[in-house]
Amino acid sequence: MATARRVGVGTNQEDVRRHNLGTVLGHVHRAGRVSRAELTATMGLNRSTIAGLVTELESLGLAEQAKPSGARVSAGRPSVDVIVRTGAYVLAADVRVDGLTVARIGLGGVVQSRATGPVPAGRAPEAIAASVIDLMRLVVKDVEPGAALVGVGVGVPGIVRASDGHVRLAPNLGWHDVPFAQILADQLGELGMPVLGNDADLGALSEHLRGAGVGVEDLIYLSGEVGVGAGVIVSGHKLEGAGGYAGEIGHMPFVPEGKPCHCGARGCWETEIGAEAIALAIGCPPERVGALGEYLEAVHEAPDDLQVVAGHLGRGLAGMVNMLNPRVIVLGGYLRSLFPLVHDVVEKELASHALAAPRDLVRVTLPGLGGDSVLHGAAELAFEPLLADPVGRLATACHDAAAALSA
Ligand SMILES: [Zn+2]
Repeated sequence: MATARRVGVGTNQEDVRRHNLGTVLGHVHRAGRVSRAELTATMGLNRSTIAGLVTELESLGLAEQAKPSGARVSAGRPSVDVIVRTGAYVLAADVRVDGLTVARIGLGGVVQSRATGPVPAGRAPEAIAASVIDLMRLVVKDVEPGAALVGVGVGVPGIVRASDGHVRLAPNLGWHDVPFAQILADQLGELGMPVLGNDADLGALSEHLRGAGVGVEDLIYLSGEVGVGAGVIVSGHKLEGAGGYAGEIGHMPFVPEGKPCHCGARGCWETEIGAEAIALAIGCPPERVGALGEYLEAVHEAPDDLQVVAGHLGRGLAGMVNMLNPRVIVLGGYLRSLFPLVHDVVEKELASHALAAPRDLVRVTLPGLGGDSVLHGAAELAFEPLLADPVGRLATACHDAAAALSA
């Protein structure tokens, strides 16, 4: 009995140590560089424990110690800094209606290599998966020897079941009930099952962790692509809903008997502010919607029709402000190019339709990560198992992704 109890205690301590190791790595990953003194203060552990955990992360190739860069934390010895190392990386993919982006991203959110490609005609899931894997082969060509691939994350413009990466509906890809994670896994071989997320949810995640919403606990990321969706963070937690499908704000009923939407309904908000509406307003031909960003860059003064779109954007945002009381709303996708052109109209509509109390607290802004919010969010999702248990995840990681993907 005594032996059994000791084993029990030992296992528990080992769990705690592994958990702490992941927590230290998480702090270093999010900050890129952090002092040992800050880690000690943040985690409430003593200095020798932190030193031991940092040493272990060094031996795993995930972090290294460096001369301090900042001011002395106390009057004593300057604290040593801890910075990320390139011993582990993830593959992240952003699947959009108008294109594919894949990147190899290291700890600290460092993009090590990236590749882009078109969406195959017909948008069949198997063909898109094959194109994503082709791009992954490109970005793993020059991986540092010995570096471990610890996860694959993919952002999709659709309603994703988190438990198994099953896409319930991606109206603008024409997908209904597509087991996209499994389709990718079939082609990824030993790299196993990727994690899938909704594009707007991933945008919210990355903007919260390392973009325009760092330190902000109540944030909405509005993804304006062909479709429009929202990732919502409330009190620091992702708003999930009963099935994880919360945030499909683009399909908020907006205009009675309005234009038909790809979801099958009529008059959804995205029919008034999505890429197709913006394209129509600025004279971008429908078949060139994929290049809408470039068309918007060329606009210097918003035509009347675009101001109408902006008014619809502002009114919808007012509804979100009234309902969710966010501190920051980040406008991603095409809205990133649209907003600077119509800023005044959006703010005016917001002012006249939102309640004063929540309106006074909200700031509408552009993504801190530019056009890469979803890509970085996919990377963060893929890093989660490593940050939960660095030792356990590294034990099963792939050390030769190029060979694994060529098989
Ligand atoms: Zn709809």
